This record gives sequence, structure tokens and C-alpha cells, in this order.
Amino acid sequence: MSESLPHEDLGASWRQARPRPAGRHLDSAACSRQSHRALEAAAHHARHEAELGGYVAEAAADDLLQQGRSVIGGLAGMAAADVAFVESAQAALVALLTGWRLPAGSRVACLPGEYSPNVAQLRTYGLRPEPLPVDGLGRIDLDGLARLLAGDPPRFVHLTHIPSHRGVLQPAGEVAVLCRDAGVPLVLDAAQSLGHADVDLGADVVYATSRKWLAGPRGVGVLCVRPALAAQLTPVLPEAEGVPPLRAFESGEAHVAGRVGLLVAVGEHLAAGPDRVRERLGALGRATRSLLDGVGGWRVVEPVDEPTATTTLVPPDGVDVVPTRTRLLNDHGIVLSAIGPERAPGEMTGPVLRVSPHLDASIDDLEALAAAL
Ligand SMILES: *Cc1c(COP(=O)(O)O)cnc(C)c1O
Repeated sequence: MSESLPHEDLGASWRQARPRPAGRHLDSAACSRQSHRALEAAAHHARHEAELGGYVAEAAADDLLQQGRSVIGGLAGMAAADVAFVESAQAALVALLTGWRLPAGSRVACLPGEYSPNVAQLRTYGLRPEPLPVDGLGRIDLDGLARLLAGDPPRFVHLTHIPSHRGVLQPAGEVAVLCRDAGVPLVLDAAQSLGHADVDLGADVVYATSRKWLAGPRGVGVLCVRPALAAQLTPVLPEAEGVPPLRAFESGEAHVAGRVGLLVAVGEHLAAGPDRVRERLGALGRATRSLLDGVGGWRVVEPVDEPTATTTLVPPDGVDVVPTRTRLLNDHGIVLSAIGPERAPGEMTGPVLRVSPHLDASIDDLEALAAAL
């Protein structure tokens, strides 16, 4: 079967902008490949730290970092003052829950297939996760949500926009409208969607990580909170008068060079055109699913036209996912992830192989994977 992908120019420029991969990298849902410019910007800042002193270098990068908060906020429909740099998506959720100080026992509605570290984090803060109504694929049932919000509303809704274990895009815009009408805050986990799908959808909180679809450095994350909710947060140490209150959730000690690298990566994403990026990523997902479904007895979980680049595969009877992932890496140079059911125990019934190509992937890469399977 021969497929063609839209925006081949994006594939070519994305490939050219970064180091040559050692093999076939189909693992951006875990960690993308950074560009030369993002790598160099982070290295340049680290060099400045050695030349000027770490705190002098950070102060010199102040305008640049503020520009970063501004463009990242823009992706989520928020302003620079609504954005805090943190260390990861998990760190963003921890910062939010630390500041929110909700009474123990408060109910939080989340997907049955919620990312298990998120559920653990909610429980650590004394909150009670309760399942949102979903269909057989784990996609939220909007009528069911409307009934939940009208009947006995939770303290907030936590929605993982695209799960880690399945390439399904949740209808977050529709969820945001229902939540807003009900006066229930919506917290969006955009770890798998920032840089992959539109996240400017009206959520009260959007948090994400740098290293996945934005292809920024590891060890950096972002927390974006609308002012009305930010005003309800109590940081451990408040900021001085005149500084945006959310800044209190940035850790004083941080990988500042990584933040600089991230803002270069975001700049590249904007220059590529987020709409074009989404079109090509969606087309890559479609091509992956149509090429792989049924190959060697592996079965694709997602609908073929789901507008994401992430595909998961259920193994044929008697085939283990973990050794398959190792064999693909060692014998074929194909990088992808094996995801065990502990990732989302409320939804997964067994392990899957996750394929998550970024813009530079080609039909040839997908055919090589099909042949290896
Ligand atoms: C990766 C991921 C996270 C955690 O991101 P970190 O930056 O590793 O903390 C949270 N939620 C989802 C859906 C993820 O895929």
C-alpha cells in the first residue's frame, strides 16, 4: 500500500533542523528529538552561567524567559502572567494541588483511563478521584458529563487530553463549555497534546511537559492557570508585590538553560504553523494505523482517522510486548514504547506497543516497522 503525507516540506525541514537519528525514532509520546537550535540555545545559556555567574545569566535572560511565558501562554489561550515554568507535567500538577489546598475528601472527576501517576498524586493530596462517563474506547460521554455536572458536581474535572496509553483526542473544548456553564473548574493535562493538538480550548488550567510534542529539553514543564483560579491558590512563599502571583510556583532553583531551549522549540513550532503540524501529525497517525492494523496479528486500538499521531497495538496471542520492543530496537533500530496496563489500570486490559512518529517520520519508517512486526 502506498500513502502520501501532507506538508512534506515540514517533514524535510524538521528532519534537517536536528541531529541525524541513529535509527528510526517513532517515540515522541515519550521524548522527541530536539533541534540543533534548541540544543545550542540551552548550551549557550549554560556557557553564560559559567562566564557571568548563574544568577547574573538568569537575570540577563529575563526578557527571553518572559517571551517564553508569553508564547507558551498564547498556545493555551492565556497571558505571560498566567504561566509558570516547572520541571515536568507531574511537577505542574503537584504545584497546582499544593497551592489549591482543597479540603481532604474533595471529589475530582477524571477519566477511568487516567494516567496512574496523576491518580496517585490526587490521592496524595487527599482528593477522591471519581470516574467520568466514557464510551468503549475511553472517550468522554458528553451527555453523561452534563448529567454529572447538573446532579452532584465534583470540585473540579481533571481531563487528560490525549492519554499516554492511547492516541485518542478527548473533546476538551466541549468539556470546557459544559464545565464553565456548571461553574466547575477544568484542569487539562496537555502532556500529550501541547504541540500535537489545539489546547486553546477554555480550560482553567493547562499543564504540560517540554520534551514530548514540542520537542524541547527534558526536565522542563509548564503550568498555565487563568487569573480567577490563580487567585484561589496559596503558594508556600508568595511573590513580592508587583510580580505575577503564579510566579511563586516556579522553583527558585531550576534548569534555566532548559527553559531557554524550550522557548526556542516553541518558536520553531509556531514558525512551522501549529495547524500544519497537526495536519501532518494526524496524517501520520492515519498512515500508521492503516499500515499496521492486522500485520503479524497486531491489532490497532484507535479509529483509523483519529486526529493524533499516536497509535497503540495489541499483541497477537502469545506475543510479549516488552521483548518485542527490545527486538525492534536492537535488531531494527526502531525506537518506540511498550506500555503496561499499570499505566492506566482503570482502562487497559493488557500491554500495548505505542508508535508515536513526529513530523520527520516517513512512510518508509512505518513500512519498516510493519515488516519487522
Ligand atoms: C508524560 C505524561 C505525563 C507526565 O509528564 P512528565 O513531564 O513526565 O511529568 C502526564 N500525563 C500524561 C498524559 C503523560 O503522557
